Amino acid sequence: MTDVYFMQQALREAAYAFDEGEVPIGAVVVCAGNIIAKAHNLTERLNDVTAHAEMQAVTMAANYLGGKYLNDCTLYVTLEPCVMCAGALAWAHIGRVVFGAYDDKRGFGRFAPKALHTKTELVGGVMAQECGEILQRFFSTKR
Ligand SMILES: [Zn+2]
Repeated sequence: MTDVYFMQQALREAAYAFDEGEVPIGAVVVCAGNIIAKAHNLTERLNDVTAHAEMQAVTMAANYLGGKYLNDCTLYVTLEPCVMCAGALAWAHIGRVVFGAYDDKRGFGRFAPKALHTKTELVGGVMAQECGEILQRFFSTKR
């Protein structure tokens, strides 16, 4: 399975968020080739600004594994994580982070490029166009 395949699954989660009126960002966590968590942004439904896709996915993955550390896991997320999520991913010791579109406004790379754990491998820009388009489509309907 490739990064593109798993990013497509994260994008499917983003589409669910879109349909629910949530900012369309999706995430999946993969461990040993299997998806062990799927999540999307739930800030509207939960009335919680911390309910980002990555936060949901990290919690689900830890519950699935029965341990808080995700060093053997890869998180795929459609948008570059924010500073909060990058911090959570660091606490989780996640092995690898793959994101889609870059977020020039709120992405951690701009504010806290060292926020991830030093051992975490980072890949950005996978299916960036598709991941960015769903966000643009969402915000164009809000204006
Ligand atoms: Zn976030």
